[in-house]
Amino acid sequence: MARTVAALRATVRHHSARFERAIPLIASENLLSPYAKEMLISDLHSRYAEGLPGERYYEGNEDVDTIERVTLDLARRLFRCSFADVRPISGTVANLAVLKALTEPGDLVGTSRLADGAHISSAGFGAFGLRGVKPVYYAWDPERMTIDVPRTREILRAVRPKTCLFGLSLFLFPMPIDELRPTLEEIGARGWYDGAHVLGLIAGGEFQDPLREGCTVLSASTHKTLPGPQHGILLAEGADPALAKKLESGAFPGVTSNHHLHAMAALAVSLAEHLEFGREYARATVRNARALAQALHDRGFDVLAADLGFTRSHTIAVRVEREGGGEAVARRLAEVGVITNKNLLPGDTSPKHPGGIRIGTPEVTRVGMGEREMVRLAEILDGFLHRGRAAETVAREVAELKAGFTTLRFCFGAGEAAYRYYDLVGRDPA
Ligand SMILES: *Cc1c(COP(=O)(O)O)cnc(C)c1O
Repeated sequence: MARTVAALRATVRHHSARFERAIPLIASENLLSPYAKEMLISDLHSRYAEGLPGERYYEGNEDVDTIERVTLDLARRLFRCSFADVRPISGTVANLAVLKALTEPGDLVGTSRLADGAHISSAGFGAFGLRGVKPVYYAWDPERMTIDVPRTREILRAVRPKTCLFGLSLFLFPMPIDELRPTLEEIGARGWYDGAHVLGLIAGGEFQDPLREGCTVLSASTHKTLPGPQHGILLAEGADPALAKKLESGAFPGVTSNHHLHAMAALAVSLAEHLEFGREYARATVRNARALAQALHDRGFDVLAADLGFTRSHTIAVRVEREGGGEAVARRLAEVGVITNKNLLPGDTSPKHPGGIRIGTPEVTRVGMGEREMVRLAEILDGFLHRGRAAETVAREVAELKAGFTTLRFCFGAGEAAYRYYDLVGRDPA
């Protein structure tokens, strides 16, 4: 088995080196700062702390209590809200906690369709199905890539769900919560926002602020535009004590027992860093997304929502039918080191043949790329997908573009290697 462990180490090293050379454009991915990463390999990883600070089920949690109190405090400061729970271990787990707190099996819950960009949490085969709630789908405006407000008002008035979820995984433009708010009030529905993708943009003041626009609860992953550890979070504003209790018991014992203390400590570091650097980072991320969209559009790519400036977030959507379809294009790009994902777009007729790719700028921004690099990237993609440049040549161009951008920005310890493999043992097992 020593050889297996040695081989695993080699594979992880290989993976790290591959991403160091690549241009990762997955909209849900980001890089952890060195101080946050350090927390992941601390002793906290070995411990248990069920419950809340001061009300634990195990001994030895004095420092954990301090760390959790600091994390909660930073979360409430960053999102300007009265309630936080940092125990959900992922965005999906956070959503399950909210479903447990806000709904009963059999309830109707407003949400968007998967084909319109919603996350699998909203699907019958995902978290909604696990809780036994039934989706009520909002109408979609494919031109504006957001909810169709007048038609959705009619649907909500007719069906009257008690909970309405807003938020997407292909998230180009803010949700029209302000416009729907009177209808939610009229039917007595509570607004719930899934900010997994846009959490760092919300905190950085670059996207709608759902807790100020009429949503009581905000659930999210903490590792997409918020460049934190893979983890989840619950935030709320205007929640009465009974709802706060329900959210807390949704998190524990509802969907966790222990809550990954090493990741929580890493989250605390990331929240502190976002308070310091988040505004600048969020602005640069959105600026890069728009610059890349424009540069691709200028080179004949069918970037969605051109009339609306392509995006207001970190994400752009490109219809690549002409270039061979979402699946083939994403695969070909990966072969030259440009990592994206195939994505269903409005109007696609088969879920098996996505017509587009999704591109995000959180990671390239975090390693310091700017608008100049976005234009260069568009040139490279144009050469490869429109002008028949050879894969080996393009792979070299990709590696050359990336070579100057392998260290972290927008965090303490900026300038540290972004893709470092932490070799604590120093040698392979004999
Ligand atoms: C990514 C995502 C999630 C789930 O996140 P995990 O942390 O991967 O569980 C939930 N909702 C939306 C909208 C997402 O995009």
